Amino acid sequence: MIRSVIFDFDGTLVDFVESDIAVLKYVCGQANPDCAVDEFIDAAIEGIMQFHELVERKEINPLLMHHYRLSRAFVRMEMDWDDCFVDLYKSQLLKKTKAYTGVRQLLRSLPGRAKLGIITNAYNAALQRERIEASGLEQFFQEILIAGEVGIAKPDPEIFLLMSRKLNVFPEECLFIGDSIHYDIKGAHSAGMKTVLYGKSKSVSEVPDYRAEDIRELAGLLENLIVQ
Ligand SMILES: [Mg+2]
Repeated sequence: MIRSVIFDFDGTLVDFVESDIAVLKYVCGQANPDCAVDEFIDAAIEGIMQFHELVERKEINPLLMHHYRLSRAFVRMEMDWDDCFVDLYKSQLLKKTKAYTGVRQLLRSLPGRAKLGIITNAYNAALQRERIEASGLEQFFQEILIAGEVGIAKPDPEIFLLMSRKLNVFPEECLFIGDSIHYDIKGAHSAGMKTVLYGKSKSVSEVPDYRAEDIRELAGLLENLIVQ
């Protein structure tokens, strides 16, 4: 019996990629209206990938992500860097953090039927809390765990088990919904939770318990899984 539904945040409840690209365009335009935007965006996205590798090797402070990626993109585009662009990026990101269409309606139907939680892997817990608040979704959740705050990250089963303890339910009574096979599905599965892979079809060798391509499918699935 499912008594708790736990969500990933970025890529599941909100579209980080879309908001990130919109903000990168804005920052690039503010810094230099003649900047080649696509090249700037590519450099900034590449910077995130490099940054994750450095964090994994424990070679950089995880809180410096946006500074790292933006300053490198500026250098690549031969634009003058200033730390104020990090603040500009963050403030614009908050403005652009919006829930996917239909998410709010889905969440509104769940409290009382299941305890709700979020587990998100962000390094910068303060900024991530602000983003969750800015999305307008915070009110629906009893517990929100941010990797940068608790010092454990998905796919470590410990962060999923911590959530089940906080919600006072057994892991096998939890349904975890996320868009990443590695971080969400494998992690939640290793903690004994049921899983839903959310988003457009990906070919996977490890199959989640359930799949939902869009919010309509997810709503239908939850309707069947949660006993009222
Ligand atoms: Mg995600």
